[in-house]
Amino acid sequence: MTIKEYFSSLFKAIVSLVKGLEVTGKELVTPKVTEQYPENRATLKIADRFRATLAFDYNDEGIHKCIACGICQMSCPNGTIEVKTKMVDTADGKKKKKLDKYMYDLGSCTFCMLCVTNCPTKAIKFTNEFEQSVYTREKLVQQLNYLPEKEAPAPAPVAKPAAPKAEAAKADAPAAAADDKVEMEVEAPNGKVMKVKLAKEDIDAIEKMVSEKPEMSKFQAMQAVIKAKKAPKA
Ligand code: SF4
Ligand code: SF4
Repeated sequence: MTIKEYFSSLFKAIVSLVKGLEVTGKELVTPKVTEQYPENRATLKIADRFRATLAFDYNDEGIHKCIACGICQMSCPNGTIEVKTKMVDTADGKKKKKLDKYMYDLGSCTFCMLCVTNCPTKAIKFTNEFEQSVYTREKLVQQLNYLPEKEAPAPAPVAKPAAPKAEAAKADAPAAAADDKVEMEVEAPNGKVMKVKLAKEDIDAIEKMVSEKPEMSKFQAMQAVIKAKKAPKA
């Protein structure tokens, strides 16, 4: 090695050292962001958008908005959600499908939020309660509808003007038809084929939408129809 080469490499080494120290120097004066957890548990602020665990959005009266439609279960790519339903008798003597148990396995959730995004009633949300450690995987399976269900108030009797029998039967016919649900098979994004029961008019709307927009799946059309029905009328 010549004298020139020796000093050239020495200079390069010094430049490289100064560059490295520049980063170290910056970090020395930058405000620290390290959280001293768990010592700072009382003052710890978790970002609002952090997805820690799925939860029901109960209102102040302890009522949730889940209608047990199962769309979240169908949307979930890895079978994390199981919606168990039951049939109940309503105050006006009809049968109605209601939520029995909403099971969520935190251990298999990827926090993709597809369930929350696709829920037509905004019944579920992600909370940022991140302290979810348990000793067994079984304990990660949670029932999200943990509050007792409240009874729906009985419908107020509606006074009907007297009508001839034939006329009354004619008037009741569309209502009876609306109660008739038709079964349809839809393929969820995770490939599961599920049977859903919807009103005939909804099925027709879904079929029409799919035929008009071939790029749209039956599942997406179903979501669009349910959302449109839930949207407040202008
Ligand atoms: S999509 Fe929403 S309303 Fe339907 S079952 Fe899931 S949480 Fe309930
Ligand atoms: S966030 Fe994703 S993985 Fe978790 S339950 Fe919802 S759809 Fe399933």
